[in-house]
Amino acid sequence: MSDGGAPAEPCVFCDITAHRSPGYIVFEDATTMAFLDIFPFTRGHLLVVPKRHGARLTDLPFDDQTALVRTLDEVCRRAERLAPDYNIALNAGAAAGQIVFHVHFHVIPRYGESNPFVSRSRERLRDDDARALVDTLGAG
Ligand code: 5GP
Ligand code: ZN
Repeated sequence: MSDGGAPAEPCVFCDITAHRSPGYIVFEDATTMAFLDIFPFTRGHLLVVPKRHGARLTDLPFDDQTALVRTLDEVCRRAERLAPDYNIALNAGAAAGQIVFHVHFHVIPRYGESNPFVSRSRERLRDDDARALVDTLGAG
């Protein structure tokens, strides 16, 4: 961002939202974006982010929070193309498991696996499957 949302340090999600780094983008509007997680817990694991940098939800102006939740709604509807059930998660702070300090909702489709969040190594997203997922999830 060019305003007060600029991060103090390089931020991988700011790089994706500014199109400086590649991402498998399924949704974008003026203030938000959604793209595939590069180390998905399950197939179609999505991240929903504001374009304005902020570490956590409460760092964002209310209008950006509202826009983010509106996009979350849209992304959930698209995730339902893969599976009717899904988890939404938001990790705020290191003790809560936050690794990327640019606020993001996770939308994690569930296919009946017991618990995808523990004891399983996460494989990197494959390019061919990512492209197939963008085809399925990308159009409105
Ligand atoms: P957190 O633990 O901060 O809530 O989750 C950060 C998520 O971002 C992780 O699920 C991780 O796999 C994902 N991630 C980290 N770096 C990148 C990246 O460069 N591109 C994408 N698409 N996802 C990333
Ligand atoms: Zn950022």
